[in-house]
Amino acid sequence: MIPLKDSYKHKGLRKVLVKTLREKGIKDESVLEAIGRVPRHFFIQKYTAEKAYEDTALQIDAGQTISQPFTVAYQTELLNVRPGITVLEIGTGSGYQAAILAEMGAKVYTIERQEELYRKTSRFLAEMGYSSIQCFLGDGSIGLKTHAPFDRIIVTAGAPSVPQPLLKQLRKGGTLVIPVGDEKVQKMITVLKISEKEYEQIELDAFKFVPLIGESAW
Ligand code: SAM
Repeated sequence: MIPLKDSYKHKGLRKVLVKTLREKGIKDESVLEAIGRVPRHFFIQKYTAEKAYEDTALQIDAGQTISQPFTVAYQTELLNVRPGITVLEIGTGSGYQAAILAEMGAKVYTIERQEELYRKTSRFLAEMGYSSIQCFLGDGSIGLKTHAPFDRIIVTAGAPSVPQPLLKQLRKGGTLVIPVGDEKVQKMITVLKISEKEYEQIELDAFKFVPLIGESAW
């Protein structure tokens, strides 16, 4: 286990970040509380404390990124997380988003397609004691059939369209949150599953994600 420190300085920087997210429009107190509790600097150890708590995306390994805190908060707010629900996350990356969901009481299944990231992050999350997060290596654009259905699905990479396997693996009454667009810009989409054949789709703000690569993706 790496000797990691969460000092008063880190806690202070998180308070400032939470204030920034509130000012930018995040309202769900349970999301803001989780961001106030999870030490983001543990997930991106090559950066200074100040950098780790700026509201920006940062480079992690394998040419990938940890999403901007505002984006994490925005997607999490749309998921309407409640303790005990199951969430499938596509794109584990640093594990930070999964940790926020676990902190809110969700049982998290997270998939990463890059082996290097999968190995590093799954070991790290286990060391951190996140027993409600299960990591998987593979193409998340086709979901995780063995553990479906899920109450919520969150995709943290930009897709060309809504992958149909993910809709199938969503529980009735469940929500999928996914950025959809071209390589340059994507719109955040929420899809509510009303029945096996009926879905309600809402298009929201624009974001910029790394691409979702796979069978039902780019
Ligand atoms: N949620 C992450 C975090 O909290 O650090 C950030 C995710 S990063 C923006 C997007 C991730 O999606 C990358 O790690 C990338 O390798 C992964 N990815 C892209 N396509 C994927 C796929 N089909 N299945 C699983 N992971 C995928």
